[in-house]
Amino acid sequence: MLDPVELASRLAGVRERIARAAGRVRRDPSTIRLVAISKTFPAADVRSAAAAGQLDFGENKVQEALTKMEQTADLPLRWHLVGHLQSNKARKAAASFDAIHSIDAASLATRLDAAAQETGRPVELLIQVDLAGEPTKYGVRRDDLLGVIEPALQCKAARLTGLMLLPPATADPEAARPYFAALRRLRDDLVAQGIPSSRLAQLSMGMSQDFEVAIEEGATLLRVGTAIFSRRPGPGTGV
Ligand SMILES: *Cc1c(COP(=O)(O)O)cnc(C)c1O
Repeated sequence: MLDPVELASRLAGVRERIARAAGRVRRDPSTIRLVAISKTFPAADVRSAAAAGQLDFGENKVQEALTKMEQTADLPLRWHLVGHLQSNKARKAAASFDAIHSIDAASLATRLDAAAQETGRPVELLIQVDLAGEPTKYGVRRDDLLGVIEPALQCKAARLTGLMLLPPATADPEAARPYFAALRRLRDDLVAQGIPSSRLAQLSMGMSQDFEVAIEEGATLLRVGTAIFSRRPGPGTGV
């Protein structure tokens, strides 16, 4: 378990940097939501972050998330799935997550909607967009986007609220800026083409490395892990 005092202080530091970045581009910081990515960290650390006022948490694996949700069920937390979702886990995911950032196929949106209708539990959907064309990465190519957006707009219990981007990994935050700007332009183009702006209001982009750049380019949901929880145990450490 992490030292709760250090965790709270890192969290405060991230919040301060968010406020400063928002100030630089005259954005209201309350329109930017910080999602603390708690993957690999135990429920005890989620509790420490929650005690410091953090209520949105993100995970990239369904099972790991379900365990932590159970262990923190007494807290009013909102859970975001930010990793790839296999369609056979859609029902479980719809029953427990508040938002799923990794929609990469129309069939996945439809399945989540069917599950959400059954449970009567609304779930927010964000479509993961692949702007770099990386062969190893999940996400919908720009040219295929309307083919996922249109069916997602038909959902009854699930609700499309925006787009998500995971740009190519790099050590230089500025290298991500063109991708962030491109996602925002893409959203603006889609709205100009008639997609209701409320359905594309959220831009999930920016991680520990580059969340300030993402804020400058219009991010509304930041997915920040290491800057809050410290470095995850790397490969080869048995985790
Ligand atoms: C792990 C992860 C993050 C957080 O990354 P950090 O560099 O630790 O901030 C954000 N988004 C996704 C999709 C992730 O898997």
